[in-house]
Amino acid sequence: MSRDHQPGFETICMHLGENRERYDGAVAPPLFQNSTFAYPDAESFVQRNMPGSARFDYTRLGNPTTDILEKKIAALEKAEAARSFGSGMAAISAAILSCVKAGDHIVTVESVYGPTRKLLSGYLPGFGIETSYVRGTEVEEFESAVRPNTKLIYLESPSSLLFELQDLSQVAELAKGRSIATVCDNSNATPFFQNPIVHGIDLVVHTATKYIGGHSDLVAGFVAGSGERIARLTRAEGELLGGVCDPFASWLMLRGLRTLPLRMERHQRNAMHIARFLESDMRVLRVHYDGLESHPQATLARRQMRGHSGMMSVEFQQNSREAAFAVVNALRYFSIAVSWGGYESLAIPVQATDPATGKKIWLVRLSVGLESIEDLKIDLYQAMNEAGL
Ligand code: PLP
Repeated sequence: MSRDHQPGFETICMHLGENRERYDGAVAPPLFQNSTFAYPDAESFVQRNMPGSARFDYTRLGNPTTDILEKKIAALEKAEAARSFGSGMAAISAAILSCVKAGDHIVTVESVYGPTRKLLSGYLPGFGIETSYVRGTEVEEFESAVRPNTKLIYLESPSSLLFELQDLSQVAELAKGRSIATVCDNSNATPFFQNPIVHGIDLVVHTATKYIGGHSDLVAGFVAGSGERIARLTRAEGELLGGVCDPFASWLMLRGLRTLPLRMERHQRNAMHIARFLESDMRVLRVHYDGLESHPQATLARRQMRGHSGMMSVEFQQNSREAAFAVVNALRYFSIAVSWGGYESLAIPVQATDPATGKKIWLVRLSVGLESIEDLKIDLYQAMNEAGL
């Protein structure tokens, strides 16, 4: 193997940053479940903040278990560095705050995750920061919304309800020409299927609660980007707002990452089966899934994504709350729960606005899990029958 050979995605998940020699050859990295790190003498204690000090000091600032994970996430996202957080929202708010100050303006997409929208429109105006919304399927919409004081374009591609995409390269190019920072929520595609940084995006944010954790047993988040941006964000929003990732969550994520590629391949396979199966059913009006050939942005999806997750939403011919509720209530293997990206299938009824018509539509959002595909298909089929669609 040549010296400059870059390890592949799966190999990064297994080996990168593990430093087994340091930990007595432990094949699974140790869990450093401690808040503070002791020094051998007063001299080394007072030198702890000197440049070049390689020691860990306090878990809000850094932790060996979390450090292994951050190295892996950075490599998987093709970024120079990554910083972990205690939730996706902690990561998102840190990333946004690292790009703006009072008097600045943000442009984002209408389909952005609800709490991110609340942060942008309900919380940040109190600090003199305003946000404008665009649908975001055409780059011209961003161009029209940008103002002289715009400092950030915040993206979520694919979005997590209607699965619309933004053209990452075009938006990055537009932003770079105007010295505007770009952030993309990449939780849905995961680094296995998409790397926004390769398309010129400055920072990638994740809720690791979803596919990266993968087992519905932790809450965590990440920001990845250039070494300079992550170092600045770590010293400011990371250390001062303090939304630190618990070492046990880091340890669970290290375990989750081992199977991320395998899980994503299976999520995709199951979701493709289900999306095609639902699309061929007369009772279904539309399946919103970025992996389908019929997706209005299928060409863009092929250009910027390597595959598709297990997330989709279904619109029935019968557009009513009753129909959406009846289907969800009749499902057996799909549990009714928020969140997504775990091994198990989930379903929720949601009302959304159709961006093309402005009309309210009822959807059933599915997080397709890793169960036997025939069982999931039968479950959906019997639920539509039982709901009387
Ligand atoms: N981004 C998206 C697209 C989400 O769906 C979520 C949570 O559902 C978040 C961010 C927030 O993540 P967390 O719940 O880990 O704070």
